[in-house]
Amino acid sequence: MKTLKVDHIGIAVKNLDETLEFYTDVLGLEVQGSEIVEEQKVRVAFLPIGDSEIELLESTDPDGPIARFIEKNGEGIQHIAFKVDDIEEAIEHMKAKGMRMIDEQPRYGAGGAKIAFVHPKSSNRVLVELTQRD
Ligand code: ZN
Repeated sequence: MKTLKVDHIGIAVKNLDETLEFYTDVLGLEVQGSEIVEEQKVRVAFLPIGDSEIELLESTDPDGPIARFIEKNGEGIQHIAFKVDDIEEAIEHMKAKGMRMIDEQPRYGAGGAKIAFVHPKSSNRVLVELTQRD
């Protein structure tokens, strides 16, 4: 597998529209895409910066993974995503290295990416997302 770059940093927020002010008005970034991912019960906004992006995540459901994350940890950085060249190969590589995967198969991610999460117990308590976008 080839790990190509930090694709994005995922930040859990309570209120996407309020949080956007900091990233747009203060930092001067622009929202490139916004989407509801039903499967993950989340509303997502992407703000490109250089070769990478900030991903803001607001829960659409009190039982969704982002709502539960905020309940436990408060708002803040939730995951870091690495772009890989071949996600199926990357998952097999991870497993061969003894990593525990949350997703053993790629699933749909915002923007049409294929994504898979590595269990934080295998990655020093950092939730790592592997992503492949063609
Ligand atoms: Zn992400």
